[in-house]
Amino acid sequence: MKAFTYIQQGKFGFTEKGKPTIIDEHDAIVRVTLSSICTSDLHIKHGSVSRAVPGITVGHEMVGIVEKVGERVSHVKPGDRVTVNVETFCGECFYCKHGYVNNCTSPHGGWALGCRIDGGQTEYVRVPYATTGLNRIPDSVSDEQALFVGDILATGFWATRISEITEEDTVLIIGAGPTGVCCLLCTLLKNPRNIIVCEKSKDRREFIQKHYPQVMVVEPEDCEAFVKQHSLHGGADVVMEVAGGPDTFQLAWKCARPNAIVTIVAMYDKPQILPLPDMYGKNLIFKTGGVDGCDCGEILDLIAQGKIDTTPLITHRFPLSRIEEAYDVFENRRDGVIKVAIFPD
Ligand SMILES: [Zn+2]
Ligand SMILES: [Zn+2]
Repeated sequence: MKAFTYIQQGKFGFTEKGKPTIIDEHDAIVRVTLSSICTSDLHIKHGSVSRAVPGITVGHEMVGIVEKVGERVSHVKPGDRVTVNVETFCGECFYCKHGYVNNCTSPHGGWALGCRIDGGQTEYVRVPYATTGLNRIPDSVSDEQALFVGDILATGFWATRISEITEEDTVLIIGAGPTGVCCLLCTLLKNPRNIIVCEKSKDRREFIQKHYPQVMVVEPEDCEAFVKQHSLHGGADVVMEVAGGPDTFQLAWKCARPNAIVTIVAMYDKPQILPLPDMYGKNLIFKTGGVDGCDCGEILDLIAQGKIDTTPLITHRFPLSRIEEAYDVFENRRDGVIKVAIFPD
């Protein structure tokens, strides 16, 4: 089968691989029916994910149909339509039992698919710990509606949960890329008093204004003053930093009111400075990424109820055989792209 592969730093390309087989009793084989490209794939391509193993099939956002399951997989069976979680986790270690599945201590725990083991930009994928890593998609939910459940939407849901948002809050979300929009969708469910989205790209600000007119948008240069003006206590009650730009961490804590929660969802290319003397007395609470992706069942229920819809994020569609074009569009942000969907040929 055709597998889009991390060949070496700076280079992805197709290789021919055999169809995966069950190698552990907790595995499942899933036929990929729709996948996507994530910014993390680009991080692998550019060599900034040191754990990524050359030769692996990339891709960790996908949905599919279960083809085969190992003896100890409960929960899903062949023929089920499923979301695939970006994280594989045993469900039994200290971290898993506390819901901190990103830090699962199993050798396969955490982000393995499309990073350390073969992922989903191909025809079939082997999913370890399938009982915890796969969720059945309700019949009323389409593949496109479910596509982001296991990765960026799980991230938005988790970030919103740990940010402890209340209906009194002014919430600032920095960054309106795909994950920022997922944070926004989950924040909307919490019904806060105000939501402000800060984004430097005009296209993306317009996307937010078009789809979520109840949300305020602002450019980074005006953000601090705008947030002060539109919040009750001199700054945002909750800040989610999802941009990962050169100055966005500084912007995040500066826009927060004293005692606010500042959730860092972004993955940075470089170390950030935590200027403790400047923020002394502000008594901020920082929470940091990455996602504990263990709420996928609940997220799928919310999609089925019509409460979350990520389909506007899918701006482009390509067959697997043209995935190189899809990468070019996504990486270079051509043609107003937000996310691409890759379907089988
Ligand atoms: Zn991702
Ligand atoms: Zn575990």
